[in-house]
Amino acid sequence: MRSPREPGEPPPQEAECVQLKVPIIQQLYHWDCGLACSRMVLQYLDHLDNDEFQKAIQELRLTKSIWTIDLAYLMRHFGVKHKFCTQTLGVDKGYKNQSFYRKHFDTEENRVNQLFAQAKASKVLVEKCTVTVQDIQKHLSQGHVAIVLVNAVLLLCDLCSSPVKYCCFLPIGQKCFCRNPDYQGHFIVLCGYNTASGSIYYNNPAYADRTCCTSIRNFEEARRSYGTDEDILFIYTDS
Ligand SMILES: [Zn+2]
Repeated sequence: MRSPREPGEPPPQEAECVQLKVPIIQQLYHWDCGLACSRMVLQYLDHLDNDEFQKAIQELRLTKSIWTIDLAYLMRHFGVKHKFCTQTLGVDKGYKNQSFYRKHFDTEENRVNQLFAQAKASKVLVEKCTVTVQDIQKHLSQGHVAIVLVNAVLLLCDLCSSPVKYCCFLPIGQKCFCRNPDYQGHFIVLCGYNTASGSIYYNNPAYADRTCCTSIRNFEEARRSYGTDEDILFIYTDS
């Protein structure tokens, strides 16, 4: 629906270039990119309290397997206005045979499906819908951010010299799981775009010192890859 306009008033222009100042927080382990993204978002909203964050992780019983629905519950816990868009309300059975998901699939399936079932009663906003790049750009142009699930195998930053995967930043002694060449679920935080150059800016929790940049085409490929369910968690600053 269009917003009402006064006659003669020019149509609202969407900014050509948006770069939001989203703080960069690096993940600590191979499994906590989603938590690092949540911390970036909460700090951006000035809602981050480390003790409260730890408490929330315990209360929501977040383990080493973090799904996008978990991040939506985390936002709800902090009273942050959000909308989680996905293609699958629950767990896609087809993932059972993918090595990234295989481990503990059945217990995870129950847990995640239950979170989806209880979402409405828990005031967690989930919608099955398709999101376009234009929707994302409009959201960013209003100063809001988003956490996106991508296939890290496909996402290639234009600025980083080599496509280093985040699990190569593991603390010494931890096992890297770069072995699967097809799919590696990874969360990133979107923080801007440039329509002239066709780029999208994002914070990759694998890095502590940079905002990354890729073409909209590459971003779309990584975001819509099989395995992501096209999950995107929109976050609104007016929360
Ligand atoms: Zn980069």
